[in-house]
Amino acid sequence: MQCRKCKGLMVRERFSDYFLIVYAWKCINCGAIVDSTITHNQKKRPAPAEDSREAVSQ
Ligand SMILES: [Zn+2]
Repeated sequence: MQCRKCKGLMVRERFSDYFLIVYAWKCINCGAIVDSTITHNQKKRPAPAEDSREAVSQ
């Protein structure tokens, strides 16, 4: 898999989205994330920052 932006190497990465666990391609060069599920469900972010997300207590 090659990044469409920079032709860099993309790796499979796991992202946790609440109860969902999704896999997406992430460019290790420019950090671009390619996954239709993620881009659809989440707002576009320049960089993944899953850990900094505020915990929403029920
Ligand atoms: Zn890239």
